[in-house]
Amino acid sequence: MKRKKRRLTKFGKLFFGIVFICICSISLFFCFPKNHLYEKKETKNYVIQIEYPHLSDKNLANYTREYIGDKKRQFIDNVQKLELTNDAKYEFKTDYQVNEMDDTVGVHLQVYEYTGGAHYIRNDKSYYYDKKNNKLVTILDFLEGEEALERLGNIAFYYVMQYSQKHNLDFNQDMVKAGLKSEPLNYEYFNFEEDGLKLVFPPYQVAYYAAGEVSIKIPYQELGGIVKQQYLKIEKKDSVSVPKNMRDIKQFMNKKLIAFTFDDGPSNVATNKLLDNLDKYQARVTFFVLGSRVDNYKETLKKAYDMGNLIGSHTYHHKDLLTLSSYDVMKEIRQTNDKMKQIIETDIKYLRPPYGNINAEIKEFSNMYTILWDLDTEDWKYKDQNTIANYIISNAHDGAIVLLHDLYETSVDGALQAMEQLEKEGYAFVTIEEMARIKGLTLNTEENYYQL
Ligand code: ZN
Repeated sequence: MKRKKRRLTKFGKLFFGIVFICICSISLFFCFPKNHLYEKKETKNYVIQIEYPHLSDKNLANYTREYIGDKKRQFIDNVQKLELTNDAKYEFKTDYQVNEMDDTVGVHLQVYEYTGGAHYIRNDKSYYYDKKNNKLVTILDFLEGEEALERLGNIAFYYVMQYSQKHNLDFNQDMVKAGLKSEPLNYEYFNFEEDGLKLVFPPYQVAYYAAGEVSIKIPYQELGGIVKQQYLKIEKKDSVSVPKNMRDIKQFMNKKLIAFTFDDGPSNVATNKLLDNLDKYQARVTFFVLGSRVDNYKETLKKAYDMGNLIGSHTYHHKDLLTLSSYDVMKEIRQTNDKMKQIIETDIKYLRPPYGNINAEIKEFSNMYTILWDLDTEDWKYKDQNTIANYIISNAHDGAIVLLHDLYETSVDGALQAMEQLEKEGYAFVTIEEMARIKGLTLNTEENYYQL
């Protein structure tokens, strides 16, 4: 019997057609990675998994491909050199972040390699590409110069140590300092975010490996004069505007000048007595305030500032800074400044270290003017108005800085008595800041000022 040849129905054709298309698509799907930026290779001994960043800029894309390509070749070389046992499986993989910042695009690459041992080895590399000027840039291109990088490092030190404290990680301060040394390579991974400059330090840069990646964010308010103005996402302060409490210094131009300075306060009786009597002698003075006392004497502090007196820092707890670790020094200084700034709304720029003890590193960290003294009344010892007054009167000279403490009424009475006499001798009583301006001095943060 002749078998009747079965013809495919229309439905059948359609069905096979669809199946054929599906098979083709599935094989295409597996033959070609769905994303050409992805690369995967697996052999008996190793796995390579690479995801290349999506980058709109061709140059930047080339840099990243080159870097990853080099690392990959090195990895394969290494693996081939290693004695491979059957169960050994080595790995190479990548990760990345891309940051778009106005004209600059940054890419942060992380290459992870496992070639035995306790953990992956991580290598970080960042590229920042200035699309407008077609060139690679580094953090230095965003800063006000090399010195700015050093200052950035000092602030970063504080934030890294704070990170350590917050996470109970107990970082070694010397290792943190070494990892933050003033070189662009130590600041490869940064991003200008809405609320501050983010810095990321890969494992092992500032701390032991297990602490992982350390990420900090420095508010823009702290970066004035360090980061170029166009990258600071804050309004520029009008430097020409004169604080409301500033006196007209012309009236003191031809006078001999004395700066009375009062440490360890504020206090109720003594500080307020002084403030109430300054106008009699057209006097303004400088207070080196203890951060730990600010909360209890807010009004006195505010009043002193509003009158036109200068407020400086005498640190938080009156500790000998030379005996503290760098981080503790920074806490002493920064906590005081932050507290006072909340009340008088101005940056604290003048520092009198307790006992006059300070060194170059502390100065660098504080970035403040160090004001010491040349007339030490030893008021705390004598607690005698006449002794204090006579000492000041007989040692007075133009540019003198007098050390007193506004904890004792006798100190205030002695100071006022000295003013009474010295006014007749042609002296004017000014703050440290006024004295510097009248004398045309530009103070710097490296020096110790005993007189001006
Ligand atoms: Zn003191």
